[in-house]
Amino acid sequence: MRKTGVVTDPLFIKHDPGPYHPESPERLKEIYSMLDTSGLNDLLTKVKPRTASSSEICLVHSEDYYKFVESSDGTSLSLDPDTSTSPDSFQAAMLAAGGAIELVDMVVGGELDNGFALIRPPGHHAERAQARGFCLFNNIAICAQHATEELGVKRVMIVDWDLHHGNGTMHSFWDRSDVLYASTHQYPYYPGTGALQDIGGKGAEGYTISIPLDTGMGDKEYASIFSSILLPVASAFEPELLLVSAGFDTLSSDPLGGMRMSPEGYGVLMAQMLQMASAASGKVVVCLEGGYDVRRQALAVEQVLRVMLDDLKPDTTSEDPGAAQSIISAVQKQQSSFWNFDS
Ligand SMILES: [Zn+2]
Repeated sequence: MRKTGVVTDPLFIKHDPGPYHPESPERLKEIYSMLDTSGLNDLLTKVKPRTASSSEICLVHSEDYYKFVESSDGTSLSLDPDTSTSPDSFQAAMLAAGGAIELVDMVVGGELDNGFALIRPPGHHAERAQARGFCLFNNIAICAQHATEELGVKRVMIVDWDLHHGNGTMHSFWDRSDVLYASTHQYPYYPGTGALQDIGGKGAEGYTISIPLDTGMGDKEYASIFSSILLPVASAFEPELLLVSAGFDTLSSDPLGGMRMSPEGYGVLMAQMLQMASAASGKVVVCLEGGYDVRRQALAVEQVLRVMLDDLKPDTTSEDPGAAQSIISAVQKQQSSFWNFDS
């Protein structure tokens, strides 16, 4: 068994963007109750989150934006057409970012093998100075910046398997060669970024990997994309820390998405993440992003956690790319000046 930490807190459930909003408190309620009923609570190490400091938030966000979000403390405010606060949202967002940072500290420091921040609000759409797409602060970008700037981690790889492209995360590290950002996402779709040609800024080409997908991709397509593109990149890049923006809106039953993943499929993706982090002794920190089929999302999170614990060892050898063959070839061609995909 590995030592896997989870960040949980009742405050995350108090962030309420309003009735009928898909990013509902029920998402985490269901996940937390799965931890009880599945017996996982006995196997996991509970990590109590702390509130991030304003300077930690400003590792990624502008001070004016931080103050704008802070001004929503105790009130309901619309930050963006999709993104609203309730009185507890600012504090929940500060605790979410702080909890994720805490996990990074513990995993990098060796107290934990890996960890999953079961937090909300999510983060990957949040820009430097703008709330977007249900996201207030960009938790995963803050983690990467904290790791490189404050912990001296030399290379961080972020894999974003959420249905949507993580525009905020990509923009945070567009010009950086020490933080590699790779995303699979339905395209064209919200938020509109993440075209094949989005490969990073001048001097950082190849350190952004955009894998835009047609609808209909399922377990075998995702597993094949990860093994054909992300594994060779990771083995060349040798990240010292792997971060995962884990959205579960690629489930076949998700009300916002057009993909066909099953809960078991995410266990395979997690096993592949651990392979990609092998040069980093498996140091992986996962942050919850989207996912709107509340019941099946909890089942998918269970699969991921069991793989992180080494309680479940799914077969990752299936190599049938199915409908993903053409996008795999296109991404390999687009990135061929930077990475070697021949094996
Ligand atoms: Zn999403």
